[in-house]
Amino acid sequence: MRVTVLGSGTSHGVPAIGCDCGVCRSTDPRDRRTRPSILIQLDTAGTTFGESVRSILVDTSTDLRAQALAFDVRRVDAILFTHTHADHVLGLDDVRRYNQMQGTSIPCFGDEETLLSLRRMFAYVFNPPRQLGGGLPQLSPFRLAGPFTLGGVEIVPVRVYHGRLPVLGFRIGSVAAPRRRSNAHPRRASSPPALDALQRLGSRRGRGAHRQRASVLHAHLPRPGARRDVCAAACRRRTGL
Ligand SMILES: [Zn+2]
Ligand SMILES: [Zn+2]
Repeated sequence: MRVTVLGSGTSHGVPAIGCDCGVCRSTDPRDRRTRPSILIQLDTAGTTFGESVRSILVDTSTDLRAQALAFDVRRVDAILFTHTHADHVLGLDDVRRYNQMQGTSIPCFGDEETLLSLRRMFAYVFNPPRQLGGGLPQLSPFRLAGPFTLGGVEIVPVRVYHGRLPVLGFRIGSVAAPRRRSNAHPRRASSPPALDALQRLGSRRGRGAHRQRASVLHAHLPRPGARRDVCAAACRRRTGL
């Protein structure tokens, strides 16, 4: 299994429009962060639909088109939605290219609230008018009610909290998304119940859509195993955050 973090920025993206802070003015390419999404690529050779899924997109970020071009994403067999905040879903329309290339509708999975919200936000997709213009995303929604299998890998939806908002995390094989994150960005801090839930699932090896979307220079982020309190103090000194 291969996991690619397509985007790990804040909802504004980094750099933010018109911001003069140290991070947004950084020339380090690692400080350019698009909106959150990850791609899971599975090693599978099955023949049925569930077995043949090779490429799973988690969320359709505002920057989906740019991410797909940057990472040369040629295939999306299924989409998992964590929640419907704008930064996680507003790239949905770009799924059309995968419909065209693959010649199929793409199954998408979310909890009941997420699917209802998608239908409201993208009424033109789910309640299309007669004039189709450049085409519509072809999606087959599935409401998640428990663990399921794609590409021979078990996917376990996990209820976690994004602030007060209940959202879904996913354990995909041994990988969890969103993963346990650093404490570098207070506006993006996951709640203790979310961290507890993911830690119980052994998420330390995971890669997540909310990973390190920090308003801290990348060069100042802690290396694996670094003491977070030392890094946080250094970041405050250097960035004034
Ligand atoms: Zn900034
Ligand atoms: Zn969100």
